[in-house]
Amino acid sequence: MIHVDKLTKFYGDFCAVDHISLDVRKGEIIGLLGPNGAGKTTTLKMLTGFFPPTDGEIRVMDRSISENPLEIKQMMGYLPESSPFYKDMLVYDYLMYVARMRGIPSSERHARLKYLSGLCSLSAIMHKSIGDLSKGLNQRVGLAHAMMGDPEILVLDEPTQGLDPNQIVEIRGLIKKIGQEKTVIFSTHILSEAEATCDRVVIINQGKIVADGKMEDIRENAGKGAVLHITIANAEFESARLKLESIDGVASVSLVEKTDDGLISVTLDCPNDADPREAVYLKIKSTDWILLNFNRKKEALESVFHDLTRNSVN
Ligand code: ATP
Repeated sequence: MIHVDKLTKFYGDFCAVDHISLDVRKGEIIGLLGPNGAGKTTTLKMLTGFFPPTDGEIRVMDRSISENPLEIKQMMGYLPESSPFYKDMLVYDYLMYVARMRGIPSSERHARLKYLSGLCSLSAIMHKSIGDLSKGLNQRVGLAHAMMGDPEILVLDEPTQGLDPNQIVEIRGLIKKIGQEKTVIFSTHILSEAEATCDRVVIINQGKIVADGKMEDIRENAGKGAVLHITIANAEFESARLKLESIDGVASVSLVEKTDDGLISVTLDCPNDADPREAVYLKIKSTDWILLNFNRKKEALESVFHDLTRNSVN
């Protein structure tokens, strides 16, 4: 649906987006994830035709955005990082104004507002002044604005920024609901948000894509498999390490804690798909160690994200 080829943006001589290429399929919810200053907003502004790239190409449904800017903008709804709302207007008046701007015929405006009011749960605030709304309600009005023209593609820049935990859950739920029918691209610097909301995550750092795929696959590709945590008594760490590292699927063994009463807690790093739990159990059984605790945890996604974006300068 969207084809992005070597998209590049320079601000002066600073390269904010550096040869990004990606394809977005119809109906996907894509999270553009990256630390502050990674180039997310700049990428979204180019995708929505807000400003042109320095280099590279964007095609939407096989039409170039530079050749058909108006047509493509009509296919998109955009919620910028900070919504430029008219604070003195009532929500209803504001959305009517947006409907007029979007060219919705007057006979259809009321039905459109009714639909969006239901979708974004706005009925109780339709006659409130925008300036009196909480940030979460503001974002819902912003989403209704972005959805006004019934766009095929919805682009949302940090839609949960500055919201409280309840509002975050609400907006994520709304994005998922909208994503059942539309293609959604949204940016976030919150890993758990991307994981909770998206089909696919594109991780961007210093203007470059450093990972693209399902979070689970990104974790696997980063070589981050699972970690086994075990606590044993009656064992010396060094001999335990040698025995455990001899097992297929155990890459390394690290000491986490050694207590005064002789217990040692260790972690066993198991890359990719390896699951050597049975072999570890049998190895321990063949010794006189006493197994007190044994569990397996997937490598924290935070550590994958940290590895991929550790050179971030912001
Ligand atoms: P954030 O999450 O902090 O909004 P971001 O990932 O959206 O970050 P951008 O806003 O796209 O990142 O900025 C990317 C880089 O480009 C940053 O280093 C930023 O300082 C720089 N930048 C953004 N806009 C401009 C501008 N108009 N002129 C010069 N530099 C800019």
